[in-house]
Amino acid sequence: MTFTEEYSIQNNSKNSKMSNLVIAGNFVGHKGNFSGKVVINTETGLIERVSRLEDRLSEDEYRELIPDYHFEFPNLIFPGFIDIHVHAREDESQKQSYKEDFFTASQAAINGGVVGFFDMPNNDPIPVTNLETWQRKKELVEKSLVDVVPYYAIMPGSVPFEINAPAKIYMGHSVGNIGFERDEDIEEVLSQYEGKFVAFHCESPNVMHEHESAATHEQKRPMRAEVEAIKQALRLIEKYDLEGHICHLSTAEGFKLIRQAKDRGVRVTSEVSPNHLYFTSKDRIDGFLQVNPPLRTKKNRRALMRAFSLGQIEYLATDHAPHSIEENEKGISGIPGLDTYGYFVTLLMHMGVDESIILKTCSYNPSLLASRFTGEKYGKIEEGYVGSLTVINTWNKTEITRDMLKTKCGWSPFEGLVFPGRIEATIVRGKVYSNFV
Ligand SMILES: [Zn+2]
Repeated sequence: MTFTEEYSIQNNSKNSKMSNLVIAGNFVGHKGNFSGKVVINTETGLIERVSRLEDRLSEDEYRELIPDYHFEFPNLIFPGFIDIHVHAREDESQKQSYKEDFFTASQAAINGGVVGFFDMPNNDPIPVTNLETWQRKKELVEKSLVDVVPYYAIMPGSVPFEINAPAKIYMGHSVGNIGFERDEDIEEVLSQYEGKFVAFHCESPNVMHEHESAATHEQKRPMRAEVEAIKQALRLIEKYDLEGHICHLSTAEGFKLIRQAKDRGVRVTSEVSPNHLYFTSKDRIDGFLQVNPPLRTKKNRRALMRAFSLGQIEYLATDHAPHSIEENEKGISGIPGLDTYGYFVTLLMHMGVDESIILKTCSYNPSLLASRFTGEKYGKIEEGYVGSLTVINTWNKTEITRDMLKTKCGWSPFEGLVFPGRIEATIVRGKVYSNFV
């Protein structure tokens, strides 16, 4: 174990109420930062009270608010980070659980300061494509230590089914082979999903077919595959009044198209992964940086970084896609990222990304999305909201090593890199996980 679950109600509570966890420190709130204390009811997992430094406390209140944990400078306490793009790999066949399962994925999440994630539906051999498979996924996620929102897949021939869940469409084939063969087949299926939230994996099957025999992974899935797919996605989002979301943006041109669509009122958001913000196609470690869509040029990376730092991309999402070391050596698409999510955030902050952008992309926006599908209130440090918090130490440099990772696949593209800070603690519904490294 690289972290321990430290808090238990029976033994540790310092304040006078046994079912209360009191956290003190510097909080990053949606209405601005504040110093104070937050009380989480460990039975309900909800925030029960927020007390600011300037509040005057009575003697009784003072006793009730003796902190169990005091996270002093240079720690910052965010409403918990939520990653909206994770492949935890587990389906009921358990055939890919050697790569990851919901328990190990949730440990990796906690390790990276992530209190909840959305799970992608392209499981192999049992993708989530109907009510039955979606409900079974809901049962499997119970072993997770963090909250999980399962996606379902829109495939060739899919018809809508009535559930309140996010949908994902793979325009071209990626991992799991649930994509479309031809651009022309996508519209008929999507035309039935009016008003729904649909996330798009944007790589055009037609463009990829044209480059099938190209030499490298990057050439087989060129930038034009993403750009053409984004064009089509935006057209369909507008035409069928979908609430569209573009996953793992990799090109400057794609970003420009999305911005223009937003300017004319199209309901669309986008996400970017640490992979595409940090690496380029020049950074090759054998098969270990193979991903769909592929890594791009420095120019694209810089354009995405700039757009992200200006708050023009709504989500930081890992696309955590664990494969075994042997599989990656042979060349398979997918890079793990949950363990390092919060570490990467410290790098972004060090590079000058404002706290308010981190709050929006890692916590507030994903929380709003999660709230829609779970009915729970995430993303604010306020009474009645879920008591999940991410504590970031912005000061203590930390090198990522293989033995600190919790993902079952056991490797990270960031091994050997020294991040400027670290995760001090992850609090999930009033449970404190700390002592990570
Ligand atoms: Zn993915």
